[in-house]
Amino acid sequence: MNEGFNIKGKSSDKLMIFDLDDTLVISKAKIKVMDAATGSLVKELTPAEYNTYVEKEGRILNFDDFQDYGILRKSKLTKYMLLLKHEYQKGTHICILTARQKSDMIREFFLYHKIDILPQLVIAIGDPKWNLQGSTAERKQEAIIRLIKQGYKDLTFFDDNAENLQMAKSLEESIPNVSINTVKV
Ligand SMILES: [Mg+2]
Repeated sequence: MNEGFNIKGKSSDKLMIFDLDDTLVISKAKIKVMDAATGSLVKELTPAEYNTYVEKEGRILNFDDFQDYGILRKSKLTKYMLLLKHEYQKGTHICILTARQKSDMIREFFLYHKIDILPQLVIAIGDPKWNLQGSTAERKQEAIIRLIKQGYKDLTFFDDNAENLQMAKSLEESIPNVSINTVKV
């Protein structure tokens, strides 16, 4: 039976999973709503506004800001980033689970903050390398299933999106001997 990844010589069945945007960082990155015909900017949405945005015909969404390392670097850090650092220093296994697209860029950001997270645990669900399908909540759920298969049994998941948390929590019913503690940020 495997027991999580081996990190600095220690495996563990305990894992702390953190969303990125509006959980660990508040960045100035916006989702741009563009007019499909003219290409002009209609409006900008914060990630929180995007959670409830209803897509409209004739509009296309542009997520380029979320690929911009400069914007990410200038992010404001939340209190959960302090918690993450504290747990990281204790040797707790940490996973980043974000709707963004560039896993390597996220890892780079944490290295800048002196936090070296195992590449297998920096999961940007929009990154083709993970081969995840469906909505954000579905992809995050699938990623968590894979982590459980890796041997993690005692999970804590921090996210600002209620649906992401509910879908993760529901795994407790279908997978035996797994505890998923969810924290709404
Ligand atoms: Mg978020």
